[in-house]
Amino acid sequence: MLEVDHLVRRFGEITAVDAISFAVGDGQMTGFVGGNGAGKTTTMRMIMGVLSIHGGGVQWRGRPITAADRRGFGYMPEERGLYPKQPIMDQLIYLGRLQGLSASGARQRAKTLLERFNLGDRHKDKLESLSLGNQQRVQIAAAVISDPQMLVLDEPFSGLDPAAVDEMADVLREFTDRGVPVLFSSHQLDLVDRLCDQLVVLSAGRVVARGTAAELRRRGPVRHRLITAG
Ligand code: ATP
Repeated sequence: MLEVDHLVRRFGEITAVDAISFAVGDGQMTGFVGGNGAGKTTTMRMIMGVLSIHGGGVQWRGRPITAADRRGFGYMPEERGLYPKQPIMDQLIYLGRLQGLSASGARQRAKTLLERFNLGDRHKDKLESLSLGNQQRVQIAAAVISDPQMLVLDEPFSGLDPAAVDEMADVLREFTDRGVPVLFSSHQLDLVDRLCDQLVVLSAGRVVARGTAAELRRRGPVRHRLITAG
C-alpha cells in the first residue's frame, strides 16, 4: 500500500500541493482527477522523488519510501521521457537494464511487451515515426518494463482513441488483478468513473473529495465538483 500523508509542495509564493493525503491499497486502481493546475503532476513527482517534499511524507508498505522502493515503481511522467529519434526496442532494453534486468532479460521483456501491443514488427522504428496512440503504448511498455510493484502514471490515456483506451485499461487491470496498486491522473471523468475503485479529486492543491465513484455520487453532485475542480 502507498500512503500519501499531508504532502506539501510550494513554488515561491504558490502552495501547489497543500497537505494532500490519500492511500492506494494493494490491487486498487485510483484515479487522480482535477482541473489544470490542481496539483496532480506535482504530487506524482513527489511520490516518485523527482521533486523534493516540503512537508508531510510518502509511505510505502508502512515505512517512509526509499529510492530503492521508487526504482521498483513504474512511472509514466508527464514529459514522457523517451527519445523521439531512437529505436523503440533499444530504448526499452536500455530502461530494463537501468532497472536491473539482464541484457537477455531486458530484450525478452521488451519483445514480449511490443508484441503485446502489436508493435513487434516496428521494434526498429524511431518513436517519432509512430502514431500518437502507438507512442503511448511504448510509453506504457517503458513504465512496466521491469515488473513494477506500483504504477504511477501521469495522464496515460491522453490522446488515445477508444480502442487504445480499452487496451490500456486492460493492461492496468492486469496489474491490479495481481495486487499491484495503480495511481493514474486523467481529465477523462467517464473513464475514471468506469475504471477506478477510488477517486481522489484535487482542487487548488487540496483533496476536495475521495471515495469510490458510487460513494461520491451518493454524496452529491460529483460531476459538477469534478468538472469545476482546480
Ligand atoms: P495539469 O492537469 O494541467 O497537468 P496538474 O493538476 O498536474 O495540472 P500541477 O502541474 O501539479 O497541476 O501544477 C500545480 C500548480 O503548481 C500550478 O499552479 C502550477 O503552475 C504550479 N507549478 C507546477 N510546477 C511548477 C514549477 N516547476 N514552477 C512553478 N510552479 C509550478
